[in-house]
Amino acid sequence: MAYKISDECISCGACAAACPVSAIAEGDAKYEINPEVCIECGACAETCPVGAPAQE
Ligand code: SF4
Ligand code: SF4
Repeated sequence: MAYKISDECISCGACAAACPVSAIAEGDAKYEINPEVCIECGACAETCPVGAPAQE
């Protein structure tokens, strides 16, 4: 299952910079992961300061 970013996201951008396949982009209220591109590496979850990305 692809990772998804929760509403805890503070839009810091760290996950987008850490994602090896550029699956993360800034959305309306928070950053969002494109599930078609995500390879489920977990780098975003490890990088996020508030633990917003999680696997569903
Ligand atoms: Fe990118 Fe990996 Fe996070 Fe998927 S799990 S969005 S590939 S950093
Ligand atoms: Fe949001 Fe966490 Fe990504 Fe920062 S690293 S943009 S808080 S999901």
